[in-house]
Amino acid sequence: MSFLSDTIAALATPAGTSAIAVVRASGPQVVPLVKGIFGETPPPRAACRADYRDGSGQLVDDVLFTFFAAPNSYTGEDTVEISCHGNPFIAQKILEDLFARGCRPAEAGEFSKRAFLHGRMDLSQAEAVMDLIHARSERALAAANQQLRGSLGRQMESLISQLVNILARIEAYIDFPEEDLPTEDRQAVLRDLERLKTDTRRLLATSHYGAMLRDGIKTVILGEPNAGKSSLLNRLVGRERALVSAEPGTTRDYLEELILVGPHALRLIDTAGLNAAPSSLEKRGIDKTIEQAAEADLFLWVIDATRPLPALPSSVAARLSSANTIAVFNKIDLPAAPSVSALKYFPVVNVSALTGAGFDSFHVEIARLADSFQSDCGDEMIAINARHAHSLEQATLCLDSAMQKLGASIATELVASDLRGSLDAFGLISGKIDHEKVLDRLFASFCIGK
Ligand code: GDP
Repeated sequence: MSFLSDTIAALATPAGTSAIAVVRASGPQVVPLVKGIFGETPPPRAACRADYRDGSGQLVDDVLFTFFAAPNSYTGEDTVEISCHGNPFIAQKILEDLFARGCRPAEAGEFSKRAFLHGRMDLSQAEAVMDLIHARSERALAAANQQLRGSLGRQMESLISQLVNILARIEAYIDFPEEDLPTEDRQAVLRDLERLKTDTRRLLATSHYGAMLRDGIKTVILGEPNAGKSSLLNRLVGRERALVSAEPGTTRDYLEELILVGPHALRLIDTAGLNAAPSSLEKRGIDKTIEQAAEADLFLWVIDATRPLPALPSSVAARLSSANTIAVFNKIDLPAAPSVSALKYFPVVNVSALTGAGFDSFHVEIARLADSFQSDCGDEMIAINARHAHSLEQATLCLDSAMQKLGASIATELVASDLRGSLDAFGLISGKIDHEKVLDRLFASFCIGK
């Protein structure tokens, strides 16, 4: 890993004018670098005020710098953070000077990559750093914080530990082929694998909520033309976003807005009205609505309370349930149509997008449903990402294959090979799979003298 011998430098704060900007350098040359610039290496983690002079001795800025000694830094290497005045020109001068003194520009994510390579964090924690930076809701922040503190890593260690135990039992028979795995042992191993598969599936089930956390809960606003969908979106977003018109069918394509409801982020999508007798242009919009509905997590079905209860296209209706839909009776500022009595199957709220009446209860209802989506995630708020899901799916396939072979009394060597496949797939999640661990466990499970 020769690239670790480089000392890297980059701006750690966004480019642009601000109160301060932070330039960071990490790597084996940091101590001579700091000495060269500031004349001394101060005690670690102490902020020091100094003049920053470039290689030619010219004053660049009055800065505050902090030295972190390996391994007690973010990257696990010697690191220096230089806070200068937040003028992009000053930050650039400092960076150029660091490059002139032998640093090289850091690649995207390279500080975190080094932290991983130096064992400061596992892969899932490095990903959590990204999630933390990008979190757009309180829940997303909480989940990222948990993952950064190793929640997913610990969960993976527990799965890996179960698997290593099973593998150790099986491998013992491979080394001593004259004693093939007795039937009762096969049954016991099968039961253990079944339990492991259930635990893996449970973790895999959190990936859907993981996507909601990272991208926002995909929320489709649907209903008849003129029910007030665009007005509702504007009211929820808190500003004029959608075109509101008294003429039906004005939203022909769809609009998307990210909003916060309590601790949840919602990706709000306004769709073309579901008209029973559409024009050809409207029909295209309706097809898009149906497409959007296929992948939605939450539906806000807007119903004009002054009109008879409309029917929905069956392809959309099939996706709605009491767990994912709120029936929003709109225009309660006007006299209600007598036919609109109770809609039994869905939670109901009564609002006026025009006056804002009923929106407090509406928010409460949205948050209640959104809360229920995270029920799979447990107290530790573990919600895996697409990369983790891919690895867990691979692991599950290998487990299935191993179980099938065990059931069919196929050679234990082949079963073990499948299990090692699962182990590797599990290992990809935290990025550290230690084959030593398997060997230690294997030999520890042997009888003395064998
Ligand atoms: P969309 O076609 O479903 O998006 O409906 P719009 O939001 O464009 O609204 C259609 C018409 O209904 C417009 O004239 C709105 O001003 C009106 N409207 C929407 N919400 C309300 C409401 O709560 N009360 C009343 N009185 N009119 C509303």
